Amino acid sequence: MKAVYLKEPKNIYIEEIEKPTYTPGQGMALIRIKSMGICGSDIGAYRGVNPIVSYPRIIGHELAGIIEEIDDNNPKGLKKGDRVVLEPYLHCGRCYPCSLGRTNCCETLKCLGVHTDGGMTEYFLHPDFMLVPIPNDMPWEIAPLSEPLTISLHGLHRAKVSAGQHVAINGCGAIGLLAALAAMSYGAIPIIIDPVAERLEYARSLGVEHTICIPGEDSLEKIREITNGRMAEVVLEMSGAGSAIRQSLDMVSYAGKIVLTGWPKSETSLPTNLITTKEIDVLGGRNSAKEFEEALELIESGKVNARAVLSKVITMDEVPEAVRELSDYPGRYLKINALVD
Ligand SMILES: [Zn+2]
Ligand SMILES: [Zn+2]
Repeated sequence: MKAVYLKEPKNIYIEEIEKPTYTPGQGMALIRIKSMGICGSDIGAYRGVNPIVSYPRIIGHELAGIIEEIDDNNPKGLKKGDRVVLEPYLHCGRCYPCSLGRTNCCETLKCLGVHTDGGMTEYFLHPDFMLVPIPNDMPWEIAPLSEPLTISLHGLHRAKVSAGQHVAINGCGAIGLLAALAAMSYGAIPIIIDPVAERLEYARSLGVEHTICIPGEDSLEKIREITNGRMAEVVLEMSGAGSAIRQSLDMVSYAGKIVLTGWPKSETSLPTNLITTKEIDVLGGRNSAKEFEEALELIESGKVNARAVLSKVITMDEVPEAVRELSDYPGRYLKINALVD
């Protein structure tokens, strides 16, 4: 079968590999992969900038497909032929965070395509309890968007965002934009901050009323205006840029919350006296846990227009070329998904 194979950094191609074999009674299901999304972490693996990725590596963790084989007594009552998305964060189930249900930050977390081989393959073996059924009429190219949406939702959930709150979002990539759309579905008021004017214009066309284009516009001044002086009750830091992380402390209101979702490349020094003065809750936000059902429901009901972040649909054979292009021109597309024929 075919796999999207990253032999080493900057060397990606379609490779013929052995189809995995299903063995009954092991809690693993065999999935025929139908669609896959290319994520920023796949690009990071391609560039060789993520120290936790080892090579060679099959990439891909945004996956949807059809169950080909599954144990009869599987925990979710799924059957052969069911359409599913795959929760890609393999966790131990025994450590402290797992015992709290916070499997997204398991001490020995293995994310598909990062710590272990991913699912950009024609067939994939995956734990049966980590399959989530998708609506029958959801198009294949849309289903993998549920994964980045869970990341956005996780940020909103960490901050317990509620209606009427201002949510300042650093970064108008797919995750930031989905977070803004999801925030609106909660009745909250997103404010997106990004350096790319076209992206912000696109966000406004999707109904995001407040956008701030940096460095030309003064983000603190604008947020003060929009919030009548209070500043944002919630800041979602989804860019990973050191300056944006630092500025989150100024963007946030007194008694506000900051969720750090973006991955910074280096250490950021922070004036922690601001955290104390404003009594800010600074929260980490990593992956997602039990958030796929909600993501799929928001997409299906149209409450979140996930299709809006899908820039292009390609075939699996075109994935290596698309990864190269996304690496060379990161601003060109929001999200590219591929269909397996
Ligand atoms: Zn992803
Ligand atoms: Zn664990």
